[in-house]
Amino acid sequence: MSSIDYNKLASDSLEDIPPDRETCTALLTDPNIQIRRLVDAAFEVRRTYFGRKVQIHIINNAQNGHCPEDCGYCAQARTSDAAIADYPIKNDDEILAEARSAYESGAFRYCMVFAGRGPSKRRVERLCGLITKIKQAYPIQVCLSPGLLDREDTANLKAAGLDRLNHNLNTSEARYPSICTTHTYQDRIHTLEAANQSGLELCSGMICGMGETPDEISGIAHTLRELGVSSIPVNFLIPIAGNAVSQATGLTPDYCLRILCMYRLVNPRSEIRMAAGRETHLGDLEPLALHAANSLFMDGYLNTRGSSRVRTLQMIADAGFTVDSDHALDNLLAEETRAASPDELEAKPEDLKSREQLRSFAS
Ligand code: SF4
Repeated sequence: MSSIDYNKLASDSLEDIPPDRETCTALLTDPNIQIRRLVDAAFEVRRTYFGRKVQIHIINNAQNGHCPEDCGYCAQARTSDAAIADYPIKNDDEILAEARSAYESGAFRYCMVFAGRGPSKRRVERLCGLITKIKQAYPIQVCLSPGLLDREDTANLKAAGLDRLNHNLNTSEARYPSICTTHTYQDRIHTLEAANQSGLELCSGMICGMGETPDEISGIAHTLRELGVSSIPVNFLIPIAGNAVSQATGLTPDYCLRILCMYRLVNPRSEIRMAAGRETHLGDLEPLALHAANSLFMDGYLNTRGSSRVRTLQMIADAGFTVDSDHALDNLLAEETRAASPDELEAKPEDLKSREQLRSFAS
């Protein structure tokens, strides 16, 4: 690969010309890459579209465990022996209180996640009612991660006020059978296409560290661009004992940072999220990664705790960024510092959430 012109990488991306797949792969693998210059190029694009704002997402497991699918990376899969707390769908009052809590915590968006292959028609109807109530009560964006959907479902959810649908591609089409046998990559593409046709914004990303090659990561970044995905969570596999895919492979902080920069250059206007596993795999480079990514999850992930709210907010402040919220970062930080418990501050990011922690979101 000839030497990289970092200025051209940034200017092309700003003209909506992404680096080609070969260049993307070189950005991930070439030992001669000047990482600071790559971060600068990514930051120029990030700054143009998102300034220094960070969008905070808070996940709510509206239902946990007992999934009939066999996604190897997921602690809720029927094939996982992970010791997670499972429970059926929360009631409407709980979910509404959680939406309020997310809004008051500075979250830009409230994400409801459901375990399972996909919802029944009856479940979709109930979700539509809930979404309408949330949108009427709080000025917060609502995202839903319900599993596989058809066109009728996506149209009804859009009509109810849903802003965005999350459905991750996870890995490449060729690698999909090695992480899941109960549904296919194409099933996932069909759900994304249905959502797109219904006018929903798309949130879809991948999980790095499941054996995929750098070229596959580059290919997924390009596929998400072609699908018009506006929000891209880049997850780094969190090793959870008992899952079929329980060891992250090939991830170093430098590699994770390169991945985020590459995603930014390929998808200049999309929200790029340093998602699950940021603490574990980016390590000390996490603040630098904010120069490429413009969003993150706070309060942990589906079943693991992540870093504390205080640490996440402090990192954003220390790195010179601010939050995309009605609430000022200083006020949020002061409030969370006052409210933080020793347990919250001392937990390791990979620790599993207890049932109480999963269900006490609104407290
Ligand atoms: S990722 Fe979703 S569909 Fe797959 S096992 Fe987990 S909850 Fe089920």
